[in-house]
Amino acid sequence: MTDVTARDDDADVGALEGGWVQRRLSDSTGRATATQLVCRPDRPARLQSAIPAPEGRSLIARGGGHSLGDATLNDGGAVALTVRLDRMLSFDGASRVVEVEAGVTIGDILRTFLPRGHMPAACPAPGTATVGGLIATDSHGKNHARVGSFGDHVAWLDLITPRHGLRRITQEDDTALFGATIGGMGLTGVIARAAIRLVPAASAFVTVHHQAVRSLETLIENLSTAAPAHDYAAAWIDTLATGSAQGRGVVETADIASASRRTWTPMRSPSPPRAFLPQRTLNAHRFRRALRGRHSVLPLDRFLFQHDSTIRRHDDRPGFAQLQCALPAEGATAAVRRLLDITRRDGGALRAAMHVVGNEGRGLLSIARPGIRLTLDLPTTVATPNLMHRLERETLDRGGRIFLASDAHLTDHGFAAMYPRLADFRAVLADVDPDMRLQSDLARRLRLRDYVV
Ligand SMILES: Cc1cc2nc3c(=O)[nH]c(=O)nc-3n(C[C@H](O)[C@H](O)[C@H](O)COP(=O)(O)OP(=O)(O)OC[C@H]3O[C@@H](n4cnc5c(N)ncnc54)[C@H](O)[C@@H]3O)c2cc1C
Repeated sequence: MTDVTARDDDADVGALEGGWVQRRLSDSTGRATATQLVCRPDRPARLQSAIPAPEGRSLIARGGGHSLGDATLNDGGAVALTVRLDRMLSFDGASRVVEVEAGVTIGDILRTFLPRGHMPAACPAPGTATVGGLIATDSHGKNHARVGSFGDHVAWLDLITPRHGLRRITQEDDTALFGATIGGMGLTGVIARAAIRLVPAASAFVTVHHQAVRSLETLIENLSTAAPAHDYAAAWIDTLATGSAQGRGVVETADIASASRRTWTPMRSPSPPRAFLPQRTLNAHRFRRALRGRHSVLPLDRFLFQHDSTIRRHDDRPGFAQLQCALPAEGATAAVRRLLDITRRDGGALRAAMHVVGNEGRGLLSIARPGIRLTLDLPTTVATPNLMHRLERETLDRGGRIFLASDAHLTDHGFAAMYPRLADFRAVLADVDPDMRLQSDLARRLRLRDYVV
């Protein structure tokens, strides 16, 4: 079987069945790296034969590799890359359910179905994130308050577990395993296929409005009012503004345009990164533009995946860490202020964004809980680990949770305190993977499986 395209940096590991090669992989910030055996099956049956991995190694799945920490790394183990499992299998127009392989991307689904009047309800970025990755992280977009997370729209999954092999699971028939797989970071098994419920799309455009706001209190208040009233809502905080401007930001709302005669041209690739102007200059420019009350009509994919170019930016400028946390609605303003204050002492966040989270997530390890989700992009320095641990303590004290897909620093005890359904999750793992064949660097760091070391 030759299901791996050899690359210059692949190391020959001798005659291994199944086309495995040794490869160094990194996370999407380029910071964490690990060396492991890698295979790239192009059919679900070949994916199935990758489990168990050769030489008794442990295994984890990797989709687009856009998670920002060590979730898709498995140092000394094995990784199954799913990007070649990229076929859309069927679509039922009456129920609007599309069946796809796990490596199909959210951008491909959007661009295929928009011209036919359908779209995924939750479209988390980036456009190259895969269905398997979005389910395993229970990611969500700027409309959680209205539609929930990606996992809320999954009708069924074909999951390969070490104990039971390939099985189709649904929420109704396999409640515990389904709940552990949504947001389960690939540790319950490898998703081979999934069925996703789409929603109607009136047009391929959104009308976007920006409102400049001068204080953090008003920003969060306006965002909380906007989220249930608009198709999409998010807020951006100018983290580098000082003095009387401190806490200012912009609320961005967007609604699907009811009808548009414009011709929609799907976005082919992310727009190029902007010139590296100082962040303070970019922030001030963004705020001033919003003060003029900007309105624009944008193609939906460009709006939803507007930060895709930052993937390349991070490639160019390694040294970026992210804190993404869900904070309870009560006390959210004080919590956000405190987290910003902590980062300010270390030079401030490069970017801060917020959106409103509606309901508790469907998955046992979903980050979603009613309140505010805050994202802080931080430049990495030698002080980053200490800073991240201070942010972790503060998040925990405020009743918040850190998103595993963007995390590289969370401690095992912090994680256990933030995720109250961890014991249920571990009970499912003990059933479907009693020999702990599914592992990742993230799982080891967080002692997610309660390791005996
Ligand atoms: C620029 C950018 C913007 C982002 N915006 C958002 C956003 O708007 N909202 C949000 O919630 N997140 C966001 N993220 C995070 C990102 O969407 C998630 O990490 C998403 O999971 C990435 O999908 P992926 O295919 O790259 O998954 P990967 O990074 O490859 O994998 C993520 C996790 O899923 C598991 N996994 C992957 N495929 C499978 C499979 N087939 N079976 C079982 N497990 C699997 C992996 O083991 C890993 O634990 C963003 C990230 C970037 C870089």
